[in-house]
Amino acid sequence: MSSPSFLQGNSLAARDAKSQIHPYTNLSVHEKEGPLIIESGKGIHVFDEDGKEYIEGLAGLWCTSFGFGEEELINAAIKQMRKLPYYHAFASKSTEPSIRLAEKLLEIAPADFSKVFFVNSGSEANDTVIKLVWYYNNALGRPKKKKIISRQKAYHGVTVAAASLTGLPPLHNDFDLPIQNILHTSCPHYYRFGKDGESEEEFASRMADDLENLILKEGPDTVAAFIAEPVMGAGGVIIPPVTYFEKIQKILKKYDILMIADEVICGFGRTGQMWGSQTYGIKPDILSCAKALSSAYLPIAAVMVSEDIFRGMVKQSEKHGAFAHGYTYSGHPVPAAVAMRTMELMEERNIIAHVQDMSPHFLKRFNALADHPLVGEVRACGLIGAVELVADKKTKRSFDPKFKAGHKAYIAMQEAGVISRAVAGDNMALCPPLIITEAEIDEMFDRFTKGLDVAADMAKKEDWFTG
Ligand code: PLP
Repeated sequence: MSSPSFLQGNSLAARDAKSQIHPYTNLSVHEKEGPLIIESGKGIHVFDEDGKEYIEGLAGLWCTSFGFGEEELINAAIKQMRKLPYYHAFASKSTEPSIRLAEKLLEIAPADFSKVFFVNSGSEANDTVIKLVWYYNNALGRPKKKKIISRQKAYHGVTVAAASLTGLPPLHNDFDLPIQNILHTSCPHYYRFGKDGESEEEFASRMADDLENLILKEGPDTVAAFIAEPVMGAGGVIIPPVTYFEKIQKILKKYDILMIADEVICGFGRTGQMWGSQTYGIKPDILSCAKALSSAYLPIAAVMVSEDIFRGMVKQSEKHGAFAHGYTYSGHPVPAAVAMRTMELMEERNIIAHVQDMSPHFLKRFNALADHPLVGEVRACGLIGAVELVADKKTKRSFDPKFKAGHKAYIAMQEAGVISRAVAGDNMALCPPLIITEAEIDEMFDRFTKGLDVAADMAKKEDWFTG
């Protein structure tokens, strides 16, 4: 096989394809086509190496809440770098930025948490959560109470345990996952899984029944925790049906099962409140957050726990001589300083109020896509949403995967100047930087629609509808 022409020279694309493995990438296509190289960013825009401008419609990976080039965050990093570029938190060492950030997180938290533990990514946060749940139940003398229930289509990360929580088959297939003690209950997507004639509330009740049945089947004394994203992101931007979390939490209380909120995407304003837990009435015992915590400028994530759980950890550390968990970079002062400045900027610039102001227009532009020939369902909340592409609007039949409808729509959108993503099949997501203005929302949707129109033309030409 002759090698693709882009590999011939010494371009960045050629060097990339020859040197780097890319996450969540079809490696075979990448070898043939190479990367899109992003060179710079400003506000909601990024620019590729040829100077082409794109709206970052997904805020990177649902994360850069302040967009690109925010000098306040850059300066916070530089200042801290000069003062103390690294220190750790092992063996009772600490630094001021991590202390200030922990206090801030406890102050703004959606529940009465006692302590914060810092990690570097959402996956590490959720891995830590699993270990804490097991550690805690051992402290309580409940060695059997260890199973954690997640949901089909959930996304909780990629490390061995976090990927096990994730309920998307590509993360398990041939990776020999999930590990034991991780279970998945039904996905609460009313449009996809609601039955004919079933109301949204009835559907939510059925989801709660499914959870209860699973708990009873496994034995309540073996089930330790339930984990959920308030809005499921990578599973397709699935908004919980009305009354869902209320009903779920009743079941959890009944069987003494911890509620874990994965706020990695929803935290810090995305849904129009500081936390998705506030938007959807969730009272978590444990919370994981990441991404917009530092506007993604530097890697940092956190786990917050209740006093009860912390006391269990104290007891275990007495027994074993230490709480033997933690990362070299847990509480790293530079990302902590940037995260602290991010939290301050959220207040100084009233970002939550801004999201609430922008959200109606964002939802209006999303809802206007309901009539588009490719769109089966529109779902959105705050400044996050998706359209689900379907072959038949009436029966909700999906496109045959062989047409790669979502992928082609994503490429067409990119050509039209907006970076979106096809998630969990043919769901085209938007989750822009929270600083987006009304005019920019219009521009983003104009480009998004242009991409959808190109995909609709392809669908007609290539007969995706009947195929
Ligand atoms: N949890 C949720 C809800 C996420 O969306 C993600 C990533 O997108 C993660 C966890 C994993 O985070 P990371 O990629 O930082 O490991």
